Amino acid sequence: MENYQLACCVWEFTLACNLNCIHCGSSAGKKRADELTTEEAFKLCEDLKKTGCLGVALMGGEPFLRKDFWRVAQKIRGLGMELSVITNGTIVDEEIIKKLVPLSPRAVAVSIDAAAPEIHDHIRGRDGAFADSWKFIELALKHNLPVSVITTVHKLNIGELAKMRDQLKGRKIAWQVQTAGSEGRRFSKDLLLDEEEFYSVGLFIEATRRGYCTAEMPVIGAHDLGFNSRMLKNTSLQGKWEGCQAGISVLGVRSNGDVLGCLSINDDKYVEGNVRKAGVFELWNSPSSFAWSRRFKPEQAGSNCAPCKYLDSCKGGCNEMSLMKTGHFHNDPRCFWKIEQRLFQKELNSPLGRAMLKLRGFSVGYGFRKLAEIFRGER
Ligand code: SF4
Ligand code: SF4
Repeated sequence: MENYQLACCVWEFTLACNLNCIHCGSSAGKKRADELTTEEAFKLCEDLKKTGCLGVALMGGEPFLRKDFWRVAQKIRGLGMELSVITNGTIVDEEIIKKLVPLSPRAVAVSIDAAAPEIHDHIRGRDGAFADSWKFIELALKHNLPVSVITTVHKLNIGELAKMRDQLKGRKIAWQVQTAGSEGRRFSKDLLLDEEEFYSVGLFIEATRRGYCTAEMPVIGAHDLGFNSRMLKNTSLQGKWEGCQAGISVLGVRSNGDVLGCLSINDDKYVEGNVRKAGVFELWNSPSSFAWSRRFKPEQAGSNCAPCKYLDSCKGGCNEMSLMKTGHFHNDPRCFWKIEQRLFQKELNSPLGRAMLKLRGFSVGYGFRKLAEIFRGER
């Protein structure tokens, strides 16, 4: 039996949500008709432990809407697995924060999408959401919980990044920046970042890391950003990108028990099974599971990645991005390596050009209008 270490299970604990965010990839709102019962949730926790899972991230929808949240969270911790919670932060109640403290969560992540309240509220679909989420964050900080902020970037908020950094820096808040995908029903494709804007997000993360020490402003990019850049360091937590980890070290479980390699790949075609039938232990250890990810062969790469010298280690970038943009796995058209070939083709062809790029690539006036907008306010 092949042995894959399951580092993290991302669990959509419910699809119910009290907000109506335009970019929500799972179009959350109403709970699924067939969500796992408390007993089934307990069984899933036990199965995850048996599978060797190290940590569980409870997300939604809005996970605090489920009344059995606390019993399941305690079960996860009682079994010795780490617990993370991803919330919109709008159910503001100090009792929630006080009950989180003894669970010693690894992270309490709150979604914040803008520095300006009206932009955040517009994106999140409810007036007052920004104020509520910040109240939640302040309470969590007061009780010394490890707070992170997750920002999903698209055309409506890319200009907010520098101002958000000003709000977050020096607050002991970790910041994860990711880009919006087009899977959600409420999201217009017109709001997706274009290539230059997408690259600018990586540039922004790199500039923030250069300008601020980690203690002052810890920032990371999600899996959708990066891969073999000649100019930017790896923006993710991984020291070196070794390919998509869906079904290799991460797993997604929907609130009805459907198992996917990654919840961002929100397509029924890639459901490996359901925990009600086979159980996670069996699914994770089945030689036929996650074949598209575990058994990747270079000849399966799409035309964007097939000729790439990094293919063996990179395996074609982020499979969610790849599928969204090309309908094909292992074919990410938005990797930084490729974007740089297109944006900086002339400069990359000469040693002097490469040196100049390294020197000037982070300055406001490089020549990209969109970069300049994002970098406005750069110190
Ligand atoms: S072209 Fe494909 S394989 Fe090469 S670095 Fe980019 S995403 Fe990875
Ligand atoms: S599909 Fe993308 S987001 Fe999902 S695990 Fe793979 S790299 Fe990460």
